[in-house]
Amino acid sequence: MKIVDIATRSVKLSGNISNAVVSFDDHDVSLVAVISDVIRGGRPVTGIAFNSIGRYAQRGILMDRIRPRILAAAPDSVLNDAATQFDPAKIYALAMKNEKPGGHGDRASAIAAVELAIWDLNAKLAEVPAYRLIADVFGHTLTKAETPVYAAGGYYYAPGSKHSLRDELLSYQDIGFDAFKIKVGGAELEYDLARIEEAIAISGSGSRLAVDANGRFDLAQGLNFARHIADYDLRWYEEIGDPLDFALNQSLAHYYPGAIATGENLFSSQDVRNLLNFGGMRADKDIFQMDAGLSYGLTEYARMIDLLEQRGFRRAQVYPHGGHLINLHIVIGLGLGGCEAYPGVFQPFGGYPDTCPVAGGYVRASDAPGFGLEEKPDIAAAISQLLA
Ligand code: MG
Repeated sequence: MKIVDIATRSVKLSGNISNAVVSFDDHDVSLVAVISDVIRGGRPVTGIAFNSIGRYAQRGILMDRIRPRILAAAPDSVLNDAATQFDPAKIYALAMKNEKPGGHGDRASAIAAVELAIWDLNAKLAEVPAYRLIADVFGHTLTKAETPVYAAGGYYYAPGSKHSLRDELLSYQDIGFDAFKIKVGGAELEYDLARIEEAIAISGSGSRLAVDANGRFDLAQGLNFARHIADYDLRWYEEIGDPLDFALNQSLAHYYPGAIATGENLFSSQDVRNLLNFGGMRADKDIFQMDAGLSYGLTEYARMIDLLEQRGFRRAQVYPHGGHLINLHIVIGLGLGGCEAYPGVFQPFGGYPDTCPVAGGYVRASDAPGFGLEEKPDIAAAISQLLA
């Protein structure tokens, strides 16, 4: 059994939106195929994944550095000991050959796309959904194939536009969501507070509403905002300042009584160790949002979860960034706290197909082999173009 090729295609995101810092107008994502020599139904069994959302496609790194390293390896060197599966940890190590430690940057998401495609490939070889394989490999006892999900969005609409925050959140409620996350930090304080109150009127309670500043605030702004929202008792206050400013995070955790969420821009277990050492994160309260698709894939991600547990945190405190099928399977397979979803945006990758229904605040994974990306018609179309 061997890998015969690795192919990639950069797919542009649609549903143009912005947060307090980034416009996604020109963003794209690397869709990756890892093609094996195992033939079933006349076609090679092929693992498919992508590098999450928000860090652009990484075609150059994938084709010039990662692909040649993996294809040059002896076929046996990328298999597990029983030679029944490809070994994601060995492939991750191969992909990192001659790469300096630290300063992870864009290679972290490039390698993630390949490593996650290996998980899809292994699950397809075993003819099981990825969540089942992930649970088996990491020793998690599966109780159900569903997980809590919240709708993220809450964008800024121009006054007088035909869209409004209220309409947006009501539309999510109609789909089956009962918890929401909205953007803050992109407007004046009073305007953001009015939006939070409007959102709570729909969610029914602050505990069903999170706010995300996307790293916009400095310490003084973050603390000022914290003071004004403390009484809302929100679900969490997300990415308040620069994601690597652990001192800022520590101060906020000291003064803000509610939960803080961060981690979506940490790319390694060492980054997470630094957050735990210096960021003031509170056991049993704060939320971790690392995303395997931005941080070398599931092998590194599982190391982060181990580290959290060693330091007294619970995996129920982990809600990965990135509302898509890959993270749905990871959340269920590892028994994490829950998933996010961005209904209608970040297409074709965001959201879930009809086979993964959202109801009563939960989303259920289907039994399709692998991550089931082929069940989402717009991803299936992109996969067809990639493999054509
Ligand atoms: Mg965020």
